[in-house]
Amino acid sequence: MLKTTRKIILYFFIFTFVCAVVFLKTITSFRPDPVILMYHSIGEAQTDKKNSLDISLKVFEQQMEFLHRYHYRVIPLLELKNLLKENKKIPSKTVVLTFDDGYENNYTKVLPILKKYDFPATIFVIVNNLGKEKIMYDRMYKFMTEDMMREMSDSGLITIGSHTIEHRYLPGVSDEDELWKEINGSKKALEKILRKPVGIFCYPVGGHTPAIEAIVRKSGYEMAVSIKFKKGDRRDDLYVLGRIKMTDNSRHPVALWVKFSGYYLRLKEL
Ligand SMILES: [Zn+2]
Repeated sequence: MLKTTRKIILYFFIFTFVCAVVFLKTITSFRPDPVILMYHSIGEAQTDKKNSLDISLKVFEQQMEFLHRYHYRVIPLLELKNLLKENKKIPSKTVVLTFDDGYENNYTKVLPILKKYDFPATIFVIVNNLGKEKIMYDRMYKFMTEDMMREMSDSGLITIGSHTIEHRYLPGVSDEDELWKEINGSKKALEKILRKPVGIFCYPVGGHTPAIEAIVRKSGYEMAVSIKFKKGDRRDDLYVLGRIKMTDNSRHPVALWVKFSGYYLRLKEL
């Protein structure tokens, strides 16, 4: 009887030890994902769930205030690229801000808030939309002008990236010359306006394929962002970096903490 009890205790200790080793190995190898936030238009509240372009100015301000209050490090996208490229550990509480499409309110409403906190950000512009107005989701959207874009770029706080010439869903474009125009042509057009290199690309609606990624690389971009990680995507792939969509619902401190944790996209995949 005593022998059996000793055996059970021994097996229990062995089992506990193995579990502890497996647990420790898992948590130490579990690196958080880079936290890249994706915004579009800032100013109006979301009126309709399908319209995911807007986030109200009030909620956006709360989110920036949260980052400031809890001492998050907001770094430029190219700085994150250097950390990933050199395989360096991304310091905890590191966040990157990005804005898609180049709305005028990024200049009128977002820039003053970013200046207040000294937060850098990247704005991805659609070349043919510069200075134009468009009705989308029954709402009029104004896009920034070339002068606004240049002024933001010259401020040193904003990096301008390309979001193509016409915002076409690239996997749906079969003509390779057209793809080169959207990817490489937009880079050249923006560089001409800004008089500086444009090194970051953003896939419209997150659409990418290996062939499209190859054109992005050959065009001389240093990195590219998508919307979210697809199953099978490498999470540190500099040409398909996933981003976290920010919405009007992202306002509770716990929700923000989860979104900024580095594990949010993995939790969503479960
Ligand atoms: Zn877009």
